[in-house]
Amino acid sequence: MKFSVLASGSSGNSLYVETENTRLLVDAGLSGKQLGQRLAQIGVKAESLTAILVSHEHIDHVKGLGVMARRYQLPIYLNEATHQHLPSSVGDIPSSLVHFMETGASLSIADIGIESIAISHDAAEPMGFRFFEKEESLAIVTDLGYVNEKIIRALEGVHSLIWESNHDVNMLRMGSYPWNVKRRILGDTGHLSNEDSAAALQEIVQGIGEQVFLAHLSQDNNLLELAHLTVKNVLKEAGLHVGTDIKLHETYPDRATSLQEVKIKTTIASA
Ligand SMILES: [Zn+2]
Ligand SMILES: [Zn+2]
Repeated sequence: MKFSVLASGSSGNSLYVETENTRLLVDAGLSGKQLGQRLAQIGVKAESLTAILVSHEHIDHVKGLGVMARRYQLPIYLNEATHQHLPSSVGDIPSSLVHFMETGASLSIADIGIESIAISHDAAEPMGFRFFEKEESLAIVTDLGYVNEKIIRALEGVHSLIWESNHDVNMLRMGSYPWNVKRRILGDTGHLSNEDSAAALQEIVQGIGEQVFLAHLSQDNNLLELAHLTVKNVLKEAGLHVGTDIKLHETYPDRATSLQEVKIKTTIASA
C-alpha cells in the first residue's frame, strides 16, 4: 500500500491511498484543478482514481468533491449525515455515485479494506479511516477535539498514521483569533493540540517503526518545529525514540508529500 498526503491544513486536505487495484482519495479539500496538480506531483492521473471517501463536510475537506466526482464519475463514500450537510457549493452529485458508509462500519473496495472511526468534531458525523491491504495498515485521523479509548483501540498496531497536531495551546491563547473561535478550537469538538496529539501517540505507537505524519497544522497557531519537538519529547518520556522506534514526517498545505510505502518492520524494536 502506498500513500501521499496531497494537502494538509485549514486551507485544504486530501490523502491519496493506492493498492495494486485501487486508488482512493480521502477528502477532496482543494479545487479540482489543484487536486489534479497534486496528483501529478506524485505521478498519478486523476482519471485513474477509483473512489473518494469523505471524513466530514467542512469545506477544507470537500471543496473539490463535486467537481472530482462529476468529472471522473467517481463513486463517493460517506455517512448519511455528512451527505445531508454537504455545502451547496459542492453542487449536485448523481445519486448513482453516492455510497453510504455507516460510522464505525467496515467495507471493502476491490483489494482494500476500510474501517471508519467515530471522532468528535463540530461537524455532522465526522469519521477517521483505517485501511488494510494484506498485513499492512494505514490510518488517517484529523479534525478531532479529543482522543478517547475507542480511537486508540481502533488504531492498535497501525503501521502508518496521519495524525492531527493542530495547534500550540499557548500560541492559540495569545494569538489574534476572536475568543469564540479560540474556544471552538480548544473545545471537545475542535482540534487536537500538539500536547494532546503527543499524549495520544504515546498510547498508540508501539515503537515498531511506525511512520507518523503530523497533519492539519494551524498556519497561525503552530510551528512545524514546535509540533515535532512536543511529540518527540513526550514519546521520549515513554522510552520511544523518534528516528529509530518511530519515524516522524511532515505534511504540507501547499504541496504533496512524496509517495510513501507502508512499511512493516520485521524485527521488534529493543526495549
Ligand atoms: Zn479540517
Ligand atoms: Zn473540520
